[in-house]
Parts: sequence; structure tokens; C-alpha cells
Amino acid sequence: MTATRPPAACLIGWPAAHSRSPLIHHHWLRKLGIAGGYVIEAVPPDELQDFVFRLALRGFVGANVTIPHKQRVLKLSKPDERAQAVGAANTLWFADGELCSTNTDVEGFLNNLDACAPGWDAAEEVLVLGAGGAARAVVFGLLERGIKRVHLANRTIARAEALADQFGDKVLPVAWEAFGDLLPRAKLLVNTTSLGMHGQEALDLDVGKLPDDALVSDLVYVPLETPLLVAAKARGLKTADGLGMLLHQAVRGFELWFGQRPQVTAELRALVEADLTGA
Ligand code: NAP
Repeated sequence: MTATRPPAACLIGWPAAHSRSPLIHHHWLRKLGIAGGYVIEAVPPDELQDFVFRLALRGFVGANVTIPHKQRVLKLSKPDERAQAVGAANTLWFADGELCSTNTDVEGFLNNLDACAPGWDAAEEVLVLGAGGAARAVVFGLLERGIKRVHLANRTIARAEALADQFGDKVLPVAWEAFGDLLPRAKLLVNTTSLGMHGQEALDLDVGKLPDDALVSDLVYVPLETPLLVAAKARGLKTADGLGMLLHQAVRGFELWFGQRPQVTAELRALVEADLTGA
């Protein structure tokens, strides 16, 4: 009789990524009573293709993908619409023997907003700060949910213009120096820049100019409470933080690999918070 190994997924990155993903997936495996695993695999760029093509042979049911491989795996798999639009994939799985890829930052962002502020998508005008990789997932998600106007401000305006060219006329590039003028109309403000991150300067923004019913979302999760979120809460505004997005983006990969949809609970959040803060 041959023993079957429990299903396992991995995180492919280089160098070996310090990641909260093992903590999240091990928690769900335990909670759902699934015999399975999740490990970190340090894969240098010149070994990526071979590693991905032999993923199943190595015993993996799928993988997360992180820096610097998120763009290259698109060509090594069958990307869905989200991965193609974002131009990067972070999740691989097998469907009918074929290696597929998606970008779960899109639903991580959307589902976190749904959890923090149901009905947020009634907002007609949204202001997004930043035009890097995370902004692509955010803009794609906002358009998918029917937002009519996405104002996109970026320090390097050419990157905001490139996103507008790709996503169409609902995305309106804004000069970085001019975003303050749009604050009174922004029912949703999303920071996708790295400003406010530990070791970086804070975002210079007056939350007092936002509407009273605005929702403020920050993708940065180190620190958990960025200066932007602290100021928004002090003004009594609704907020959605980066850790919430991180937890929600992990749900789909787990479901695709292990066949059960896990929950983002207060218990999981406390576990990851303690890891982030070293508590
Ligand atoms: P990225 O592609 O490197 O983009 C960085 C963005 O920040 C660019 O728009 C850049 O503007 C802007 N920026 C950097 N320094 C700035 C400054 N001093 N002033 C104004 N703008 C500045 O990075 P990314 O992958 O999009 O990630 C951005 C942030 O989102 C990171 O903090 C990351 O940890 C976070 N994130 C969180 C999640 C989550 O699940 N919570 C998921 C993805 C990303 P320029 O174009 O002018 O350089």
C-alpha cells in the first residue's frame, strides 16, 4: 500500500521571503481540520520556469508568488482576467491539470472594504493615491464594482497616465500636488503608495477636507495603524486597513488548493497582529 502525502502549497519568492502567509494558512488548516501544508520556497530567477513547470511533480497543489516573480509567472501559466489586467499574478493552482493564475489582491481589497464598510461602492467618486503594482489591483477592482470616476494621483504622473490609458476614461490622472482639491468629493480615499510605511515619511494629507461620511483605506500594514488611519479615526471617519486586505487576499488561494473556503476572523487577525507587532 502506498501512503499519500497530504496536499501542500508553497510561497515562491527570492530571496526567501519573510511572510505572514504560512501563519495564515497553517491557522486555517488547523481550524478546518485539513491535513495539509504550506512552505516557503526560495527560487532564484533562473530556476523559476523549471520550478513552476514541475510544481505538481514536487508535490504541490498550488502556490503563492511574490517578489520578484509576480510578472513572469503570467507567461508560465494561464492567467485569468484579473491577473492579466493587473499584469501580475500572486496565486497559482491547477484546474483540469492546467496551471492557472490569478491576482487575489483585487478581491482582498474589495472584500476588506465590504467587511469594514458595507455599501461603500455607492461612492461615485474615488481618489486613489499611487500608481504602482498595488494601485493596478485597486483600480481594476473599483471599476469591476462599477465606480464611475477614479481620480488617480501619483508623484510620477506618467505612471498614472499609463494606468488611465490601460483602464479607460473612468480613470482620471491627477497631478500629485493637486490631489488636495479632490478631497471634498472623495467618498472613498485609498492610499496605495508606500508613504506611511515604517521607515518612510507620512502621507501629507488633511483628512479634515474629506466628506463626513468618507471611507479611508490604507494598503500599508506596517505599522498596523498608519498616520493616515490614525487621523481618519480621530475625525470619526470609517477606515479599512492593510492587514484586513492581506488576510482577505489569502482566502481564495486556500480555497483553490484545499477545497474549503476559510473565514477571516478576529482570532486570525489577532494572531497576525501579534506577529507583526512582535507581541
Ligand atoms: P510600487 O509598485 O513600488 O509603488 C509604490 C507607489 O508609491 C508608487 O505610486 C510611488 O510613486 C509611490 N511612492 C513611493 N514613495 C513616494 C513618495 N515619497 N511620495 C509619493 N509617492 C511615493 O509598490 P506596490 O507594490 O504598489 O505597493 C505599495 C504599498 O502597498 C506598499 O506599502 C505595500 O506593502 C502595500 N501593499 C499592501 C497589500 C496588502 O495586502 N495590504 C498588497 C499590496 C501592496 P512613483 O510612481 O512616483 O514612484
